[in-house]
Amino acid sequence: MNAQDIRARYLAFFKNRGHAVIPRAKLIPEEDPTTLFTGSGMQPLIRYLLGESHPAGTRLTDSQTCLRAQDIDEIGDNRHTTFFEMLGNWSLGDYSKQDQINWFWEFITKEIGLDPKRIFVSCFSGDETAGIPKDTESAEIWSSIFKSVNIDPKQVDIISEENGAKVGDQGGRIFFYGKKNWWCRAGDASKMPVGEPGGPDTEMFYLFPDVAHDISYGEHCHVNCDCGRYIELGNSVFMEYIKTDNGFEKLPKQNVDYGGGLERIAAAALNSPDVYKISVMWPIVQKLEKISDKTYETHTTSMRVITDHLRAATFLAVDGVTPSNKEQGYVMRRLLRRAIRFAFDLGVEQNFLQEIVPVIADLYENDFPEVKEQRERVIEVLIKEEKVFRQTLRKGLREFDKFANSAKRTKTPESEGIVTGMSGSDLFTLYDTYGFPLELSAEEAFKQGVELSKTWQEEFDAKMAEQRARSQTATKGTFKGGLGGQTIQHKKYHTATHLMYQALRDVLGNHVVQHGSNITEERLRFDFSHPEKVTPEELKQVEDIVNEQIQKDLKVSFAEYPTEEATGQLGALGQFGDRYGDTVKVYKMIADGADKPFSFEICGGPHVDHTLQLAEDNKHFKIIKEESSSAGIRRIKAILTAD
Ligand code: ATP
Ligand code: MG
Repeated sequence: MNAQDIRARYLAFFKNRGHAVIPRAKLIPEEDPTTLFTGSGMQPLIRYLLGESHPAGTRLTDSQTCLRAQDIDEIGDNRHTTFFEMLGNWSLGDYSKQDQINWFWEFITKEIGLDPKRIFVSCFSGDETAGIPKDTESAEIWSSIFKSVNIDPKQVDIISEENGAKVGDQGGRIFFYGKKNWWCRAGDASKMPVGEPGGPDTEMFYLFPDVAHDISYGEHCHVNCDCGRYIELGNSVFMEYIKTDNGFEKLPKQNVDYGGGLERIAAAALNSPDVYKISVMWPIVQKLEKISDKTYETHTTSMRVITDHLRAATFLAVDGVTPSNKEQGYVMRRLLRRAIRFAFDLGVEQNFLQEIVPVIADLYENDFPEVKEQRERVIEVLIKEEKVFRQTLRKGLREFDKFANSAKRTKTPESEGIVTGMSGSDLFTLYDTYGFPLELSAEEAFKQGVELSKTWQEEFDAKMAEQRARSQTATKGTFKGGLGGQTIQHKKYHTATHLMYQALRDVLGNHVVQHGSNITEERLRFDFSHPEKVTPEELKQVEDIVNEQIQKDLKVSFAEYPTEEATGQLGALGQFGDRYGDTVKVYKMIADGADKPFSFEICGGPHVDHTLQLAEDNKHFKIIKEESSSAGIRRIKAILTAD
């Protein structure tokens, strides 16, 4: 049974038990600006777990794509990947522990066929100070399950992880832990604010007896040991309590939230402790073996890192992220650049993404239609970043070597205790001028055995702060007119936004009204009212109109008018109604000799002076995405590109 089958069977299993199968949320949380990525199945559903009713009912299931950038340092081990799918099922005040634990067991042992003797579990030991009792209920359910298959349900109190390392598994089957088995958003029961829900959880582990315990992780192995002998397959959270002024009370409606890694379950089904051996990973490794003429056995870590990072970057691209220097785009860039750098260890120094990314797309196309839909664009985005990076990589590495050599030279016996090693300012130059993510330089330094100066972090931060301050005096006084900055790129995209707005009205009709605009140096994003998906033909027409206007080299100018006159008889576009002052600035874009402007819109600016500036470097206007933003509102992302 391969990973695709397991995903399908899981969803069918819960569908047969009354669950609505819901689509995955994107990797970029749409409603939560506080986190960069969707990192669990629960995250997009938190509103419903907190009490709002879900349109699909009280029983839900899905396979949620997740990205945990915080796990990047674990990549290379046998079971962590930055990108993975979390199979999930939820009860919103519907069923409880009994059903959840029994269903999990039935699925994992009967549907998937895992060996019951190798399954171990943990439960919550209780918190005396907070007055929360031990979760004996879950433990009893597990006990009767284990007894039913003639397994001794021996219970062991571990209490703390350090303790666990000392006592080992002690031949137990059900282990009680404290904090580790308590779920709440604050992380710790004592830190929870009044009104906050939380609850115990029970984790399920699979033992791989052939993996020898590694004592560098502690004297004895135990279920939560990180040596990789036990692998956590899933976790059922029972949201049962609410914190009140008088301590913890039971919630009137209790939820179940289950999440289990598809990759890990698929590995267990293969009886492999290595998740890279499963059907949605191994073909990528095989392709790498072919390209590099090296084997996975001799180059395990590099191949794991490359496989993981490219899978993650591919899904980020599917979800609309492009490599950039901030936020999600930066993580994506970092993943891609790291993958490319690790490929050097395989002797692969030429472009190779055009060979790998299609392999990844093939693995997901059938199950995620958006992968099929976006395939060509995704490949294009990733290949482009590879090209850009390779151009700077060689130069950057040469520069790195120079810094490294001079750092080595300054390290003499006399200089002991004085500043030696590569400085934060060297690292900043590599970052700023050569596009080296900081982590890449640090890794490179580690690989080459070059020391970093003791104060490199402070120096680097200071350089960054200086740079930020510089760019702020460039961008001071912005956010007028919805702009995030005033670089020439911003101006171009701002002007393109006006052209596109008018073109949309020309093509779709005058019901199109702006609902939001967001401009970065990489793209424009524009939200507008329109009741249905804009067809590819309509998008093409819009693109053509914009490009035609760019080529006509419209002259861009502005004038101030009394607001009433501008919005009234002059018919300027504008959507902020009475939020305008007495007078407004209206931007006009008009072709030489024309009697009517193409675009006439209230706006704070700034813009370019002539639209042909948008076509510099052989560029043209291109819509890269059209999607729903909310009910009746569509969102378009567009770029100026030479491709
Ligand atoms: P671990 O201790 O192994 O890092 P976790 O406690 O971080 O796991 P949860 O947050 O409980 O895991 O996530 C639920 C499930 O998602 C886990 O039981 C595991 O199967 C899967 N999972 C979590 N992190 C990863 C990862 N980085 N790669 C693959 N699967 C993961
Ligand atoms: Mg983890």
